Amino acid sequence: MLSCLYQAITPLIITRFVSQSMKGLIFNIKRYAIHDGPGIRVTFFLKGCPLDCRWCHNPEGILPEVEEVVRIDHIGEKEFRIKETVGKRYTVEDLLLVAKMDRVFIDESQGGVTFSGGEPLMQYQFLFEALTMFKKESIHTAVDTSGQAGRTVLEKIIPVTDLFLYDIKHMDPVRHKKYTGVSNERILSNIKFILEMNKEVILRIPVIPGYNDDIEHLNSIIKFLHDQGGALLRIDLLSYHKIGSSKYRKFNLEYKMEGVKQLTDERMNEVKAIFTNEGFKVKIGG
Ligand code: SF4
Repeated sequence: MLSCLYQAITPLIITRFVSQSMKGLIFNIKRYAIHDGPGIRVTFFLKGCPLDCRWCHNPEGILPEVEEVVRIDHIGEKEFRIKETVGKRYTVEDLLLVAKMDRVFIDESQGGVTFSGGEPLMQYQFLFEALTMFKKESIHTAVDTSGQAGRTVLEKIIPVTDLFLYDIKHMDPVRHKKYTGVSNERILSNIKFILEMNKEVILRIPVIPGYNDDIEHLNSIIKFLHDQGGALLRIDLLSYHKIGSSKYRKFNLEYKMEGVKQLTDERMNEVKAIFTNEGFKVKIGG
């Protein structure tokens, strides 16, 4: 209840905050997040992504611009069409103000802030400013990324980031391109680089039935990881779910995963065992 009240007043408070600094385009702010890094966190979802994953559950975060969409809701037989604006510009001070409201929970739980998306590295200048400010405030920073960014961008972001939540979606470049719209060369090269820099990483693997959950593919991830050094803290296995499909309906977008079934708990545990047997620390879910 208290959390709902906070969520409701957050936009009111931050729109009263006037600042001249650079603005970032954000489509969601999640307070009391517990799946986006250690402890209780505030997660900022930056709008814009260079990928177009078939299973994306945040399709409203892909376009790097404010969108006016028509949300379609049904009550009984009746259909309602409601105009909705997706995306709003915030300064880094606005974000600090939000985080400060939860500072006591963040500190008590050894949490922090996480930048997710979309792809937060797409707005790297704003991201750099925000991360730098949170570091100055001694707030733990995490970046949840697909890894599709230039090396110079990473070099800028790494020193002000405590933890990367880094996705590996497919090891085969052709299938990666087919499923996400881009090849994986840059993504794999960037994760190597981050680990070489000894930066803490939690690897996130979306486990998508029929796309990347076969044993050959899982073994190719394991081989790749064994070849890397660095501070890989854990692997999070993110089971494909259909929650995102309702957003596609809501925003009148084509859902490309129709007919794909969610994995059973038993199958997810089998996948987990494949990685734990190889010595990795693994968690199901974020
Ligand atoms: S990288 Fe993430 S946000 Fe971007 S399209 Fe893929 S799932 Fe969606």
